[in-house]
Amino acid sequence: MFLAVLPSFAADSIAAIDKDKVSIFLDGARHAGDCKLEESLLLTELHQLHFPAGWRIAIVCTSLRWQQILQQRDLHYNTRGFTNLKSQLTVLDGVIFREFPSNYRHIIAHELAHIQCQCRDETMAERIARDLEHAAKLTQDAARIAGKQIPQAIPASDLPEKTGSLVAPRFSLKDH
Ligand SMILES: [Zn+2]
Repeated sequence: MFLAVLPSFAADSIAAIDKDKVSIFLDGARHAGDCKLEESLLLTELHQLHFPAGWRIAIVCTSLRWQQILQQRDLHYNTRGFTNLKSQLTVLDGVIFREFPSNYRHIIAHELAHIQCQCRDETMAERIARDLEHAAKLTQDAARIAGKQIPQAIPASDLPEKTGSLVAPRFSLKDH
């Protein structure tokens, strides 16, 4: 999925984005523990799938909230994630993290592919995504051969900026 027009996904209301790191937002999390599994699984994937510094990734933590976002943005009902290049924002349906890792890895890689090609071309994005997934697998295999484990937890110094829930977004602009 690709969104061309600058959305108003609370982009202006989030203070203190760290330009040197990827920031992760948990949208729709109501309690401290909500969405923590999804967040940790995403962090693991980010070891292999490198989003640019300053990029923001939002995990939408409830199906209800995801449905709202899809409706407000006039997106297809089976959209699992989308990216806005202009506002440097990728938004993921949290439900994907309850599926097989290969499934959500592909969705994340697909969104990263849009960022790398700076394009809306879905065929191109799919091709790049497959390359990214392949490279990630090679890295994992190499680490395994070397007798090392891919780290499951990012050192504290590498953790993205933690910013908590998104402020209520304004959906005044059409996304596409
Ligand atoms: Zn796409």
